[in-house]
Amino acid sequence: EMFGQLTSGLESAWSKLKGEEVLTKENIAEPMRDIRRALLEADVSLPVVRRFVQSVSDQAVGVGVIRGVKPDQQLVKIVNDELVKLMGGEVSELTFAKSGPTVILLAGLQGVGKTTVCAKLANYLKKQGKSSMLVAGDVYRPAAIDQLVILGEQVKVPVYTAGTDTKPSEIARQGLAEAKKKNIDVVIMDTAGRLQIDKGMMDELKEVKRVLNPTEVLLVVDAMTGQEAAALVTTFNVEIGITGAILTKLDGDSRGGAALSVKEVSGKPIKLVGRGERMEDLEPFYPDRMAGRILGMGDVLSFVEKAQEVMKQEDAEDLQKKIMSAKFDFNDFLKQTRAVARMGSMTRVLGMIPGMGKVTPAQIREAEKSLKIMEAMIEVMTPEEREKPELLAESSTRRKRVAQESGKTEQQVSQLVAQLFQMRVRMKNLMGVMEGGSIPALNN
Ligand code: GDP
Repeated sequence: EMFGQLTSGLESAWSKLKGEEVLTKENIAEPMRDIRRALLEADVSLPVVRRFVQSVSDQAVGVGVIRGVKPDQQLVKIVNDELVKLMGGEVSELTFAKSGPTVILLAGLQGVGKTTVCAKLANYLKKQGKSSMLVAGDVYRPAAIDQLVILGEQVKVPVYTAGTDTKPSEIARQGLAEAKKKNIDVVIMDTAGRLQIDKGMMDELKEVKRVLNPTEVLLVVDAMTGQEAAALVTTFNVEIGITGAILTKLDGDSRGGAALSVKEVSGKPIKLVGRGERMEDLEPFYPDRMAGRILGMGDVLSFVEKAQEVMKQEDAEDLQKKIMSAKFDFNDFLKQTRAVARMGSMTRVLGMIPGMGKVTPAQIREAEKSLKIMEAMIEVMTPEEREKPELLAESSTRRKRVAQESGKTEQQVSQLVAQLFQMRVRMKNLMGVMEGGSIPALNN
């Protein structure tokens, strides 16, 4: 079964967290070892495994508790998201030329399923309403040309051939001209498959690429070859410059190393996958569905996602309620300023505020100083004053007391109170923006 081995390897990681209350550095140690082992056994390359495990454990320790979600479920979700990221995140679609025929150049070692992919791809494009033509450029194996012709007939797509005596770059030129004449949407060029990479093969490919100026250059690799496939994609990309990979024989791959490694190792996405010998067995590579298949825990994932959403929503609703009812008080103010301070790097925080632009170190120090001053003043307020800033706005006696007890001036206290009311206005406006309203002019 596809990725079966990896799935069961990962399962042992979750099982070790049963009965735990939260994820900690200590209780994730063993599950992380399981994950590491599972990935290595899947034939994912060591540097990739290391980065993956590090990232997952960092997130696991910092994740906190989501109401109703168990630690093992949380870990499943973290691993899932990291797997999706590892495989490139979004699905990577084929690109089509804006005008004239789209040219797809296919390369790959012998036996990986390149000839089959040519016909499968034509069949796939036909379903999208695009006409295509196959060009037989594997001049070293007459049988490959015959096979392409047969497969072409099977999917009812024309095949351009020029025998084995013509140079592949010349066949490419002729094929492209023919496709233009016939107003074909997509030209799919098959090239020589050798048993191993050699200079002759690379030079020939470069020449064909130069002649065709292809929209896509796709390397066909065999999923069963694991991290070797990822290394091949890297080599071809460095030598020829490719736009992506097609991963074949995924149906027979119980390990998953190639699917997991190609993007991370080579920087190039897997665009399509072959999952069987039939002409219909070619589909886009969906990192999220792949991760889902590997983990085999769709229910858990959607449950954790819902719980996360609910929590986010409750937090947002809480804040919104406060803002709408003008309840944003000094307690919230303090929480916010402290949260900002906790983030440590003031540069980054201030840099994120629109309109702040570049912030100088002097400005940062200034901002940190004023945070301290604010804190000092809020700390000496009574609980009542914190909750009802109006009290301070209305009474200069109260402001005087706060000033005295915090060792600040009365003017500083007045400023702070004014600032809170300004903040209420600003946040209200912000909420307006979030709800689709426009920003009214601010009174300064
Ligand atoms: P080429 O030498 O790269 O052109 O490889 P072929 O296209 O001739 O394919 C080699 C063998 O792999 C054939 O028997 C194909 O049927 C088989 N094959 C190709 N793609 C797949 C796939 O996605 N799944 C499976 N199970 N077999 C495949």
